[in-house]
Amino acid sequence: MTSASADRPGAAVRVSGARKSFGGREVLGGVDFSIGRGEVVSLIGPSGAGKSTMLRCLTLLDTLDQGSISYGDLVVCSGDDGARYDRAAMRAARMRFGLVFQDYNLFPHRTVLQNVMDAPVVVQGRDRMEVESQARELIATLDLAEHADKVPCQLSGGQQQRVAIARALCMNPDVMYFDEATSALDPRLTKDMHDLIRQLADKGMAVGIVTHEMGFAQTVSDRVCLLFDGQIVEDGSPEQLLEHPRDERSRIFLSLSA
Ligand code: ADP
Ligand code: MG
Repeated sequence: MTSASADRPGAAVRVSGARKSFGGREVLGGVDFSIGRGEVVSLIGPSGAGKSTMLRCLTLLDTLDQGSISYGDLVVCSGDDGARYDRAAMRAARMRFGLVFQDYNLFPHRTVLQNVMDAPVVVQGRDRMEVESQARELIATLDLAEHADKVPCQLSGGQQQRVAIARALCMNPDVMYFDEATSALDPRLTKDMHDLIRQLADKGMAVGIVTHEMGFAQTVSDRVCLLFDGQIVEDGSPEQLLEHPRDERSRIFLSLSA
């Protein structure tokens, strides 16, 4: 399907014709996907649909067999007869997105402050004092000020997640990805997460959310893309999707997750 989003100008991230197979089995079957600046887009779908594979390819943790990926004007890979990756563009693109993993992936022996500061100082080569002042500000904004010198195991799940968010934000990304952002959170923290994501989008950041939960996607997203068997079968506003799903499988998926 040719989605409206694939043609949208000024996308912060754009993927076209993404194909990926594992052992001869196609997991992504020609996906077009993009997120505009200031837009929150959820990629939802049942288990096994290809969401994590898509996110791994978007974040350059894995490579496409075919298709193109660009971050703004940076073309990371392209080619219909095999995706050709540009190493310099890959390095530059890694500075443009932040990823909050489902299991947070914090460094267990580093404090909250160190977890947030490490990548900007080591990977981006920024000035330590400047990074520390931004890190402390983010830590305060995310309600972690009193925990700055603790290590992750001294924090609750919700607090660890906020550290992971602060760490990603301290890289000043254009795009933030959240992998199953709310699956481990109680209703109040889910509401906080919702507000935070909307604030990031209001500041012009592009936000991509990968989830199997329609409930959260519906309230937070400007646009929802529904993935089945490696194909995007729906791409529209949450209202459009709920009121006029185009695909029979969407109707079933939506009724099951209601
Ligand atoms: P989702 O995140 O939507 O649940 P995934 O992207 O994790 O889906 O998986 C899609 C399909 O690809 C599944 O059938 C899964 O078993 C398969 N798959 C994912 N990663 C690999 C891999 N590294 N090797 C082989 N098969 C994989
Ligand atoms: Mg997954």
